[in-house]
Amino acid sequence: MSGAPAPAGPTDADWAAAVAAVRGLHPDARVLLICHVNPDGDALGSMLGFALGLRRLGVRHLQATFPGPAGVPEPFRWLPGVELLVPQDDANPAPDLVICFDAASESRLGDLADRLGGAGTSLVLDHHASNTGFGDVNLVDPHAAATSVVALGLLDRLGVPLDADTATGLYVALTTDTGSFRFEATTPAVHEMAARLLATGIRPGDISRRVFDTRPFGAVRLFGEVLGRATLEPAAAAGHGLVWTYATRDDLVRHDQPAYVLEALIDSVRCTAEADVSCVVKQSGDAEWAVSLRSKGAVDVSRVAVGLGGGGHRFAAGFTGRGPLDDVIGSIRAALTPALLTAPPA
Ligand code: 5GP
Ligand code: MN
Repeated sequence: MSGAPAPAGPTDADWAAAVAAVRGLHPDARVLLICHVNPDGDALGSMLGFALGLRRLGVRHLQATFPGPAGVPEPFRWLPGVELLVPQDDANPAPDLVICFDAASESRLGDLADRLGGAGTSLVLDHHASNTGFGDVNLVDPHAAATSVVALGLLDRLGVPLDADTATGLYVALTTDTGSFRFEATTPAVHEMAARLLATGIRPGDISRRVFDTRPFGAVRLFGEVLGRATLEPAAAAGHGLVWTYATRDDLVRHDQPAYVLEALIDSVRCTAEADVSCVVKQSGDAEWAVSLRSKGAVDVSRVAVGLGGGGHRFAAGFTGRGPLDDVIGSIRAALTPALLTAPPA
């Protein structure tokens, strides 16, 4: 794909162009930061952490936003910098600089994609190998464990000193995308970055409890119901196994829960020993489903997701499914062909 980044990550010229784009801003410049729809800890944490770094550089007119309903999921409402968030309709239509976080393509920016064209310059910070290179300047590092690794790389090159508020967002992002330092992406460099962030005095116990280990009792009951109908298909994925479940909008209404509580469900499904691939299908419209896919390594789920119109990483990916639930599950089952396996059956 033209404009696609080299797998090796940003070049010196890319970093220099990004630094120049920020340093070249005049004091009254308007900067708009955008992260992907249905934002997670990496999207919000890297965006808000970077925003606070920009503020330290003297950028005064800052807005941060994401597509869709304006509400911030409860686990992130305490993040330093949330006061910079505006609803998408209030986002400046023609900022001097727009910076996108954790979005592999323009489609992940929803109705905000038009801000790219309206901006003086667009800068993309991301770590998805599938990133299409849709910015004027693209800092895309597929080897980075989180977008916040790229964000810190740019703050360092801009000479912004790390403070606890900036570090909090970047740490939330890093822990989110490494599964609290459990996933394959947890390299020595990840721990070195975590050490730098923790040295600012932030409290990892408090942060983890707020982000990962707190949910309303109604969500606990809802999880019980949704996990109770999980289905195991040992023969799927050429014998590597598939486990899946689903949650409808009616489930949310019955338990009086907002949709974002479902984001944590995949972690309770993917521990199934008998399946390499796990899947949670979350109803997002009358016949629309947000699908989360996870793999333990035998299947590259990003290829499954890309084939179904989405994207992601090898071990964690997603897409939007349309039509009846059975059709969405059927499309996943059909996509888990031997051709997409990265290893022979166990
Ligand atoms: P999650 O299952 O946590 O929502 O997403 C897992 C990974 O897949 C993340 O990297 C996320 O950005 C990506 N992803 C999830 N849904 C979509 C989608 O609809 N389109 C694309 N391009 N990527 C997605
Ligand atoms: Mn990410």
